[in-house]
Amino acid sequence: MVGVVDHAAGARRPTAGRARRLSLHPLPDRGKTSRGRGRSERGRTPAGPEWLLERGLDRDNIVALQTGQCWDPGKRTKPVTREQAIEALRQQVPACAKCRPDTALGIAD
Ligand SMILES: [Zn+2]
Repeated sequence: MVGVVDHAAGARRPTAGRARRLSLHPLPDRGKTSRGRGRSERGRTPAGPEWLLERGLDRDNIVALQTGQCWDPGKRTKPVTREQAIEALRQQVPACAKCRPDTALGIAD
């Protein structure tokens, strides 16, 4: 095991040396680019739908309401408006227990 690692490190040494040398060049450029990009991305809100309806196998069967920020929204979701999200909860569509869209909409029981 140790012998294998040593061997791989030895084989990689010339490549690492080259990579380090190359990285010296873009350094001034990289600082300029990252500053400009950081500013424009920080001001932006994350793109994407705010609310998602998760469908079951049946096309008309809605199994859960999700927020757009849910980390586990399921496989079959479609973006909906806030009004549609509220309407879905009124029609007894379960709110996701992970992202709590009912709380986000202010209509939790
Ligand atoms: Zn969720």
